[in-house]
Amino acid sequence: MNEILQKLVMLQDLDYMIVEVKSKDVKKVQKKMGLKIKGGEKLYDAKKALEQKIPSNVLSKYHKLMERFGRAVSPVVNNKCMSCYVTLPKRLSIREIGNRELRSCERCGVFLYWV
Ligand SMILES: [Zn+2]
Repeated sequence: MNEILQKLVMLQDLDYMIVEVKSKDVKKVQKKMGLKIKGGEKLYDAKKALEQKIPSNVLSKYHKLMERFGRAVSPVVNNKCMSCYVTLPKRLSIREIGNRELRSCERCGVFLYWV
């Protein structure tokens, strides 16, 4: 798989984990009546380290997509973008070729990877 694409997939996983940790923290805080419990700091560190390895133009697009859709990288299943469910052009649908380069969905704009 394309190196940047691989990192974007990892980054998105981290972002989802951070969201999860945050929501767990909220529950804990409520439970303990105001006692704040720190969580996800290691995840933030890993996220920062990973972000430094991604070109800034790609990273800024990633953040824009995350803000807009809550996802920036989407798998392609049965020739369809799993973010907007558009059927992709055949020239884009070959796994070996698709994962070699950083590609975006022509409709919704998310980065695509083939599973
Ligand atoms: Zn799409």
